[in-house]
Amino acid sequence: MGRIRILPDQVANKIAAGEVVERPASVVKELLENSLDAGATELRVEVESGGRRLIRIVDDGCGMLRDDALLAFERHATSKLRDVKDLLSIATLGFRGEALPSIASVSRLLLETRSAEETTGTRIEIAGGRMLRCEEMALGGGTVITVRDLFYNVPARRKFLRTEQTELAHIASLVTHYSLAHPAKTFLLTSGATQLLNVTPVATLKERVYQVFGSHLLEDLVEIGFREKTLIIPPVSAPPSEGLSTADPEEPRSRTFRLTGFFSRPQVQKANRNSIFIFVNGRLIRDRLMLHALSSAYYNLMPPSCFPFALLFLECDPEEVDVNVHPSKTEVRFRHGPWVHDFVRDTIRERLIESRPAPTFTPAARPLSPGAQPAAALPYSEFTQALANEEPPGLAASAIEARPAPSIAAPVDESFESAPVFSLHPPPAPAPRFDFTAPPLEVTPGPPPSGKLRRNLDAHGAFPADALPPPEMSLSVLSELRPLGQIHESFIVAAGRDGLWIVDQHVAHERVLFEQVMKQRAAGRVEMQRLLMPLVVQLTAEQQIDYARIADELHASGFETEPFGHRTIAVKAAPAAIGAANVERILCEILETVEGEPAGTSLEDLRRAICASIACRAAIKINTRLDAGKMEWLLRALAATDCPMSCPHGRPIALHYSTREILKAFHRL
Ligand code: ADP
Ligand code: MG
Repeated sequence: MGRIRILPDQVANKIAAGEVVERPASVVKELLENSLDAGATELRVEVESGGRRLIRIVDDGCGMLRDDALLAFERHATSKLRDVKDLLSIATLGFRGEALPSIASVSRLLLETRSAEETTGTRIEIAGGRMLRCEEMALGGGTVITVRDLFYNVPARRKFLRTEQTELAHIASLVTHYSLAHPAKTFLLTSGATQLLNVTPVATLKERVYQVFGSHLLEDLVEIGFREKTLIIPPVSAPPSEGLSTADPEEPRSRTFRLTGFFSRPQVQKANRNSIFIFVNGRLIRDRLMLHALSSAYYNLMPPSCFPFALLFLECDPEEVDVNVHPSKTEVRFRHGPWVHDFVRDTIRERLIESRPAPTFTPAARPLSPGAQPAAALPYSEFTQALANEEPPGLAASAIEARPAPSIAAPVDESFESAPVFSLHPPPAPAPRFDFTAPPLEVTPGPPPSGKLRRNLDAHGAFPADALPPPEMSLSVLSELRPLGQIHESFIVAAGRDGLWIVDQHVAHERVLFEQVMKQRAAGRVEMQRLLMPLVVQLTAEQQIDYARIADELHASGFETEPFGHRTIAVKAAPAAIGAANVERILCEILETVEGEPAGTSLEDLRRAICASIACRAAIKINTRLDAGKMEWLLRALAATDCPMSCPHGRPIALHYSTREILKAFHRL
């Protein structure tokens, strides 16, 4: 008996409607998801001309029975849903029953499939939605779907396709990221004769990350490990969305959420969100809530205009997440959104702080130029950039690990202009990690390969233990450093057990003060200082509105203010850490920060912004001479902070030049 059914109208009508086939990558996405839903463990994707001429997906999944194979091309025909209730807990990637008919209507499609339950397979040919042939055939198990000449009958769509390279890049990124979500499966991607991805099953995500990106990226990543948290839903549960519910409202329920994956250390700063990949129950999504949670985790650790690399996997009960929001299934709605948001933010932030990573001294650091990582409009585009630039193959994915120096403007009082006083050895060439032009790999064991092939095999297959990055250098060692002096009376140079350290004295002190003020604020004991004379500050109309909104928080943070006539306020006391001369400036700065922020901006964010402003103004400036005692004190105080790696505005504080790097530079290694 067939598994596929046509959904009844009342179910079909509840499904987010819309076109799914926008470009070749969307075809690949739908077909890959089908193969994964079919339980495939080996997924082979072949494309030609960026997927315009050919997309073929070969899987070893459950295959289709003959009757099902015919039904699969009807609209709303699916084996994954039965009734409206099922829409509440979708555990498969597909459920709309629309991908195959949609793809078949805009291409020449060939389906070859055999279920283990039948002795012969089925071959169906369709062009522009019209069935041309259906025959019984001897076939191996699994399914092969070949899509040729995409949009051949819809010239308007064809016109909107980007260059072959761009479309190919989207496909490569997509397949790569699905391969990251399924480390235990084999993924192969070829474009013409070129093999773009070949990953064999491995036991852990870490090994898969290594296969795909190489050890360089791993060095810059923090692994979340396995973090979970349980949400207890009280008996009177919130009304479920869309009025559909299977739950008994009398029963308290508990729901466990698990977060795994990797995210980058704060020094990896990307110009856009293209390096953020979020999977919810195995589905690659773009979700504002999750993106926001991730950015909030880096708050005060990274400049707000920069983004990290992240590979996050959130697993939860399917009932907790509505995937039926958008036709391409890339958006979701969480039933308990704010709770999920805070869980993700806090987990990442805790791990970031625990790892206390020190930026290594990278002379290769490049300024973050807008041209460095553009393609912001493209959803999956680290690869786009690499391919579009036609970089030499070995460098193709180097954009992934570009570690640009942050380029936020220095505060006004930090006018520091000087050429670097010393420079180090030229940057080592980045190791090839995602070779777009590598020759096909030998899959069968043969004699040990040599040279380039050997490297490729290492990069794609085996996982040599010694290739893992060394244990991360913890910033706790800061407390043992011996200050040697200052460069330009601005940067402390210190010797440690492992090499040389350079610490930016202003941002280091800023971090110390920031945490101090935050702690005082949390305990409700901010030290205040009365001003000899109340200070009258003039506000714009907009600032006055913002002021009214944050007045209470300002007060709790040590600013005693009150309205004083038309658009002016009187400041009677200010936090003790800042001089009276700075008060007006800080207030304006704080008002600027909250300007245009949505009214719902969290109190936590506001509090941090206020404390950051206070810390910045009160901190030791650059161009200030420090004696050895002061330097030592600062290093100890910094070591004792929760986040010694970056200042509250997200700039790095300390650079580390390891003994190993020094030895290498002197050719002693
Ligand atoms: P959906 O995935 O939403 O159910 P599709 O149009 O993508 O809808 O696929 C229709 C049906 O065809 C699926 O429900 C599944 O039963 C079957 N199918 C599609 N691709 C495969 C495959 N690679 N292997 C086995 N069955 C498949
Ligand atoms: Mg599908």
